[in-house]
Parts: sequence; structure tokens; C-alpha cells
Amino acid sequence: MYAQVIVDIAHSQVDKIFEYSCPDNLSAGSRVKVPFGGRVIDGFVIGVSPVSSYPAEKVKPVAQIFDEPPALVPECTSLMHGIASRYRVPKAVALRLFLPSEMRLGKVHEVYKKFAVYTGEDIKLSSSAKKQAEALRFLKDEKEYDLTRLCEKFGRGAVNSLIEKGAVKTDKRKITRSPFSGLPEGVSAKVLTPAQNAALEKIESANHRVNLIHGVTGSGKTEIYLSVIAREIERGKTAIFLVPEISLTPQMLTQLRSRFGGTAAILHSGLSAGERFDEWWRLRSGEAKIAIGARSAIFAPLENIGAIIIDEEHDSSYLSESAPRYSTLEIAKMRAEYNGAKLVLGSATPSVETYAKAVDGEYGLITLTERINKKPLPEIIIADMRKEVKRGNNTAFSKALRDELDETLKSGSQAIIFLNRRGYSRTVMCRDCGYVAKCENCDVTLTYHSEENCLKCHYCGAKYRMLTACPECGGRHVLYSGTGTQKVVADLKSLFPTARILRMDNDTVTGKDGHYNILKKFASKQADILVGTQMIAKGHDFPAVTLVGIMDADMSLHFSDYRSGERTFQLITQVSGRSGRADDKGKVVLQTCSPENYILRFATNYDYSGFFKNETALRKATGFPPYSLICRVMVTSDNSENALEALKGVYFAIEELRAKFPEEFIFLNKMHSPIKKIQGKLRYQVLMRLSSDRLLERIYDAAVKYSSDSVLVYVEENPVNLS
Ligand code: ADP
Ligand code: ZN
Repeated sequence: MYAQVIVDIAHSQVDKIFEYSCPDNLSAGSRVKVPFGGRVIDGFVIGVSPVSSYPAEKVKPVAQIFDEPPALVPECTSLMHGIASRYRVPKAVALRLFLPSEMRLGKVHEVYKKFAVYTGEDIKLSSSAKKQAEALRFLKDEKEYDLTRLCEKFGRGAVNSLIEKGAVKTDKRKITRSPFSGLPEGVSAKVLTPAQNAALEKIESANHRVNLIHGVTGSGKTEIYLSVIAREIERGKTAIFLVPEISLTPQMLTQLRSRFGGTAAILHSGLSAGERFDEWWRLRSGEAKIAIGARSAIFAPLENIGAIIIDEEHDSSYLSESAPRYSTLEIAKMRAEYNGAKLVLGSATPSVETYAKAVDGEYGLITLTERINKKPLPEIIIADMRKEVKRGNNTAFSKALRDELDETLKSGSQAIIFLNRRGYSRTVMCRDCGYVAKCENCDVTLTYHSEENCLKCHYCGAKYRMLTACPECGGRHVLYSGTGTQKVVADLKSLFPTARILRMDNDTVTGKDGHYNILKKFASKQADILVGTQMIAKGHDFPAVTLVGIMDADMSLHFSDYRSGERTFQLITQVSGRSGRADDKGKVVLQTCSPENYILRFATNYDYSGFFKNETALRKATGFPPYSLICRVMVTSDNSENALEALKGVYFAIEELRAKFPEEFIFLNKMHSPIKKIQGKLRYQVLMRLSSDRLLERIYDAAVKYSSDSVLVYVEENPVNLS
């Protein structure tokens, strides 16, 4: 037999399928070692065939076959080709997505443990052998027991004698390192509400392969996902459940584990290498049927997938920011197509792109307008920070927020204080009137660049002089800084000396259980106030929280991104959704310097469709996605000559395209990237806005053509950030 092998080298020059001779019983999907260029390296068998396309004497034999079930599911081969051609990466790079890195490096192995097993053999013990008799009685009850612990209990000598006499035998067994064991199990499903049932039926009816659940926070989306999964499991199928950042959603884990027990496996980077390895094999072996995890869990080794769920589908973590720069949704569509599976997207604030497809009928749309038990959505109070300044309040806390905090603490409820540190100190804003500097051509916020002391537009490269006074009101409080979490905590401590405060941001969260521990502490009411960044905005369900304070809604509003309006709307809705989820009514205080801003108005009225109409009209008029495609070709190298040469080459190739298809280009330019150098690598870019994706393949071609060992050239589509 002959094996078709992909060698595990990420290089375009060896991006081929190689042939090796192999034993008859080798199956596709197996890991092997093969001789390659004088070395022996890892490879993956993607197919076997009785014939070879080369003369037999030229074909070398496979050097080693790993003694395990084939690691790759059959679907991998088709997905590998799909991903390699869509994102122009070597096949080995595409294949690696399907394997935990521990496995490729061969570092992690299975763990075995010895057990003592009662054999049932009748033996005579002398009356003096008290320990042996005790151990035997113990083991008779237990049937089997961890050998080391048995020896600790009754002494090694006694146990060894029993083994010699044949009453006990030892057995080596594989141990599964299971994360989050000890969670409660066996919690049964809730009785679905009519709205949830209707949603489930619509998904079951399979009128659409893809369904979007647009449901307000607390409308019971999770229960719908779980029911969809449960039905597929009953049908003997498997499921993938994606969440933005799994370590941030311990409640979700608890829910899944308690509902599905060991049928659910968790894949995420916070696990130890051993845990991840074992969870992965539990899925591959069929013991576990539900894969739960962040973005990369879309590559879970499951066969016969019945449903794929993408929760919080609007979250930017679903776009990979390293090669291959895949969109999780695209991969999910490929897998759903291959398996004939249902794909369910859910969010309280769907991305404009996704919602537009649902409105157009490409996706099924399910709308849930009410919270479970018709609990009201929290009231959002706007605090105008310009007025606070005029009143002489120069602290970061408005009077409204201080008063509400006071009340919340007195009633024994909990509060969440949210602040947005992204974009911090880079946006320029007037604190007297709320004016924000924007690009005249693109209508996006300008970003301050300290090295040149100027303001720049990241979408067209235009430069503007730095402001010393506000052009609108002449005020001199032009700021480019926000307040940090530490400062907020310090202020809170002086305002409320007895309050117990927890802080959660990248600086306080360490270790694999860092998030989990902070959230657990807060959930068990060991603190009154939780202060944090984006991390605390996501899907948490803390019943005792009745107040949410949003410190600086403007910071994300004016982040220099065409999606900043969308992001702000999402953030306010999501953060507000943490308030008043249980019996007590919730409140939100939103602090801003631009209370009349339309995004804030829609958000405070929970008016998603108003927001969507407005936003799409704006994007249409300015030519931004989904009415265009932003495409950036990045050119990076530590050698400036090589970089510039590649940049010219790519730019020239794209200019030729523009000459042929002028209608496809809304904008095209080449320039330094906003951050000119990262880790010694110079960064240049060709930035374009295209009216469709028609030329995308050819743009990828140009990037591949000018990429070399010394210059990295890659394509980004609608990138999350343009720095
Ligand atoms: P979402 O994911 O839409 O924000 P959740 O699924 O977290 O909403 O549901 C909000 C709350 O309502 C949770 O506490 C959940 O346990 C509860 N819940 C959901 N569905 C039901 C139901 N059918 N009956 C009773 N409670 C429910
Ligand atoms: Zn511009």
C-alpha cells in the first residue's frame, strides 16, 4: 500500500502531497514519521492507495506509525484543502489547526495509574495477619482501589502478600485528566417557554442551514442552544458549542457539565497541556460528543456533527489574528455543509454583517424581545460628564453613579463598574463640549501619534495637526487620556471605605484559573463591587448585581475604527445586560461627554433595529463593510530594502488589477502601517477598500508571490485593528 503524506513543515516549497510505502493496515488520518531530506520528520496520512504514481523503487517506506487510532477525522482532508486554498496557507499549516500542539510536539503522553483489583479468590490468612485481613475486607467492598493509596492505608507489605497469594491483582489503566471535575452533574433541562419552543422548532424545521437568534440579554438563548444540542445527541450526532472566551464564562461550563456530564469536553488554552490532550482524545474516541471552547474548538475532532452553535457571534475573538487568518464563521459553514449540520448564531447585539444577512433572508432570523419571566431590561441613566466638570466635579464619578452605588451597597446588592481601556490615551477629545477629532474623508476618529505629534486616520493615512484647543468651543481641556482601573479602585475606596472591591483586568488575571477565581469570588458575594474592562462584559449571570456603571462610554465610541459605533452599541447593551437579571430591578449609569450621540441614544433605548438602520445607511453612504471589503496586505521584514521591494511588487500587481477593474476599487494606497515597527520588524501595508470580494483571490496571489524567507506578506480581510 501507499500512503499520501503531508509533512509537518510550514513552507510553501514542501507544500505537496508525498508518497511513502506502508503496511496494508495503515489508515488515513494516522500520524507517522517519514524520512524526508535526510531527516525523519512528522507527517500525516491523508489517504492510502494500492497504487503509487511513482516507480516503486523511488518510494521510501514510512519510518514509524503511531500506535493509536487515526488522529484526523476523515473530514479533515476536505477541510484542509478548503482552508489552504481559501486563506493561501500551506496544507501543513491548515492541518495543524486540527491537532492540539502538544500532540505534534510529542511532549504530552497519556498517564497511567495502577489499580489493585479484588480477584475473588478464596485464601487462608493466619490470625496474626491483621493488616492483610483489613485490606482484604476493604477491597472486597471497594472491588478495586488506587494501588498507591491502598498501600498507604494498609502498608505495602500487607498488600504485596495479598498479591502473592492471588487475592489481589494489579491493573494498569489510563487516567483521564479532567478539567473542572467536581462540578455538579445531572441538572435537568428547564421547561422551555413558548418563545424558546418556537425558536427551537424554527431551527429544527431546517428551512435555513444557518439561523440567527437575536435575543435580548437574559432572554434564555443558552437554554435554546442546550436543547438543540440535546436533540442532536439523542439522534446519535455530535455538536460543537463555541463561546468567545471560555475562561470568562464559568457559568456556561457549569451549565453544560451539569446538563451533559462527561459527554461534554472542554477545549481551551487555559487548560494544562495534559488536560487538553485528554479532552481532545475523549472527543476523538467518541467518548465525548460535545466540544465546548473558544474559536479553535471549531476544529474539534468530531464526526457526524449535528449542530454547531456560535454564542455571542458578534465577538471579535472569532477572527483569527495569526496565520491562517480565518473567520470562525466561514469554517463553521464549511463543517456544517460537510456534515449537513445546523448552524446557530446567537447574540443580543448581532454584528451588522450577520444581521444584514438575516434581514436579506440568507439566514433564518429568530427574535426574542423579552427576558425570561418578562423581567424588565435595566433602566439606563445618562450622566453628562461635561456638566459634572462645570459643576466642579473633577473626579471620575458622576453624582448619579455615586448615589446609585451608595444605594446599592446599602441594600446589600452588588455592582459592576466597567471601563474601557482600549483606545485609551490615543483618541483626542474635548472635555468641555465632547468634540472628537475625525477624518474629513472617512468619518472615523483620528488617532494620536506621539512620535510625530500629529493625528492620523488609519483608513486613508491622512495626517492632521495636533490640537491645542478645541475647534468647536475653544476649550483648553483637550484630553487624550482616560482613567485606568487602578485609579477607579482607589477612588472607590476613598468614596466607600467599607465596600469590598474586586478588580479584573489583564494585570490582575494570572494563571489558568485566574478569571474563574475572581468571578467565583464575586458570584459567591465575597465582594460588593467588581471593577473591570471588556472581560466583565461577556455573558455573566450574577443574580445579585443590580447596578452597572459604565465609566467612559466615549472611549470606545471614538476608537478609530469604522466599527466603533457598533462596538459601543454592543458594549453598552452587553454590560447593561449584567444588571437586574434576577428578582430585583436593575439600573445602569452611563457616563459620557456626548449624550446626544445617536449610538448612545439607540443603546439606552435598547433599540437594535433603529441602530441597525442608521448604521447601515451610514456604511452605505461612506462605503464601509458590509457594503465594501476592507483589505490590507501587510508587508513586514527586518530588512527595509527587501520590505520596500516586496511592497512595490505587491502594490504594482494590485494597481494593474485596478487598471483592469476600476469599479472594484473604492480606495487604494500603500503606506507605512500606523505602528511602523514591531519587534524589530518594519511594517508597511497596501490598504484598499473593495466593492466586492471578486478580486480577493488575486490579491492573495500577489501576497504569496512576494512573500519570501526574508519578507512576510499576508492579507487581512476586514481586520479587527489597523495598527
Ligand atoms: P441569555 O443567554 O439570552 O442571556 P440565559 O440563557 O442566560 O439568557 O437565561 C437567563 C436566565 O433565565 C438564566 O438564569 C436561566 O437559567 C433562566 N432561564 C432560561 N430559560 C428558562 C426557562 N425556560 N425557565 C426558567 N428559567 C429560564
Ligand atoms: Zn481618512
